[in-house]
Amino acid sequence: MSILTVKYKGSSVLNREAKKINAITKDIVKLAEDMLETMYTYHGVGLAAPQVGVSKQMIVVDCGDEYQKEPYVLMNPIIIDSKGYQEGDEGCLSLPGLYLPVKRFDYVAVEAVDIYGKKVVIEGRKLLSRCLQHEIDHLHGRLFDELVEDKEKLQEELPKLKQRIEAILRGEISPYPVIEKEEKEELVNSSK
Ligand SMILES: [Zn+2]
Repeated sequence: MSILTVKYKGSSVLNREAKKINAITKDIVKLAEDMLETMYTYHGVGLAAPQVGVSKQMIVVDCGDEYQKEPYVLMNPIIIDSKGYQEGDEGCLSLPGLYLPVKRFDYVAVEAVDIYGKKVVIEGRKLLSRCLQHEIDHLHGRLFDELVEDKEKLQEELPKLKQRIEAILRGEISPYPVIEKEEKEELVNSSK
């Protein structure tokens, strides 16, 4: 397995409609494995193929034990049902360091094809629902900043995001999200 390079806002692959996957080839299986490894390395809960420069309809999702027993690898996913609304901060590996509130469906049912070629229906609430909607948006060239309702706050944050992306691309700062100080302390304490 290998860690893939994440594409950032400004990269054209993120704005394109991704192509449907018609056959599960060795390359597709490898892409799924590499995307999972990349998502875990970057501490993400989801990743879409366009984010690693591949314009194909594949997403990987792992919101943890509370939401799912195993990581999902979903191809050609579509939302077939939705209920209610939730509002909460959202982030994206392609928009590093940007966290802003976005309104999403509280519940979604998603139909997709799994890595064995089987048709599956995944139901998600709360974080899992948010994550599924966010990743499916990536397959249609949509980034979450487009959905931020507080345009004033967004306009404030976008120049900082641009600077952060440029610094990552120049190799001046790490692309991996920084673990907050308290989290680090917790890790230290729990390892005692
Ligand atoms: Zn994203």
